[in-house]
Amino acid sequence: MNTTTLSFEFFPPKTAEGMDNLRQTRAELAQFLPEFYSVTFGAGGSTRDRTMDTVYEIQQEGFQAAPHISCVSSSKAEIRDLLQAYQAHGIKRLVALRGDVPSGEVSSGDFKYAAELVAFIRAETGNHFHIEVAAYPEFHPEARTPAADILNLKRKIDAGANSAITQYFYNPDAYFRFVEQCAATGIHVPIVPGIMPIYNITQLARFSSICGAEIPRWLKLRLEEYGDDMASLRAFGIDVVSELCETLQVWGAPSLHFYTLNRSGVISNIIKNICE
Ligand code: FAD
Repeated sequence: MNTTTLSFEFFPPKTAEGMDNLRQTRAELAQFLPEFYSVTFGAGGSTRDRTMDTVYEIQQEGFQAAPHISCVSSSKAEIRDLLQAYQAHGIKRLVALRGDVPSGEVSSGDFKYAAELVAFIRAETGNHFHIEVAAYPEFHPEARTPAADILNLKRKIDAGANSAITQYFYNPDAYFRFVEQCAATGIHVPIVPGIMPIYNITQLARFSSICGAEIPRWLKLRLEEYGDDMASLRAFGIDVVSELCETLQVWGAPSLHFYTLNRSGVISNIIKNICE
């Protein structure tokens, strides 16, 4: 059996059908004994109640649930309420993020960057929560320079974060170089690679253009060549991502965090491949 620690990220469903689907996804992924399930949070609190409901349900099933909190457009009072609710429900882990202001809107919250949110969580709740933050092996699109982005990660760790989860990438060298440079900058917490399975090239290209994750040319061209043949595209994607995970494991990634998009099939295949 695989010895790598795993975690899985979900988004909070909008409908009862979506909640049912997510229950089935969790039931399938439970066989891999994840360390935790995390649940995303819409900037400005747009998914607040749905994120909380999903997190509490996961917790009731006996799993560790880690809500994401994005602070952009939120007030300190709103974040304080959330922290108190999570503490009262026995939540012990958070993913602390800045978030993105929806296009056309101007941020009006009390926090400008995630490091301020981490400092606020520590000031309000001491060491109650294990805090994860975001890291970017191919660098955040708004970062002035790669070095400035790494210094920002250091600020988040110095403010009290315990570990980081990365944006997804398909080039393992980007991750290894990043981890090396973080260590040289004095960052000594686990930096867990975020893994995005390949379901669909149009959707992947859209996500990647927003978040700055690169789809290597060879991979993009190969995926485009499959056209509407989704079964072959997914089979190829499973091979590519399994190999990426194996390389990350072999070279010492501390664990793997999967962006599930609330699905389990492709991910189960990848994990079975890397367990062989
Ligand atoms: P920050 O760490 O604040 O960094 C944002 C940018 O500002 C970077 O370019 C950084 O270099 C720069 N910066 C930071 N401090 C300064 C400074 N003092 N001066 C100048 N520049 C500075 N988004 C959501 O809305 N909800 C989610 O649930 C969610 N989950 C995520 C989970 C993971 C694992 C990851 C990797 C991302 C997630 N995101 C989510 C996306 C994230 O919110 C965006 O990438 C956002 O643009 C940046 O968030 P951050 O926490 O990295 O911000």
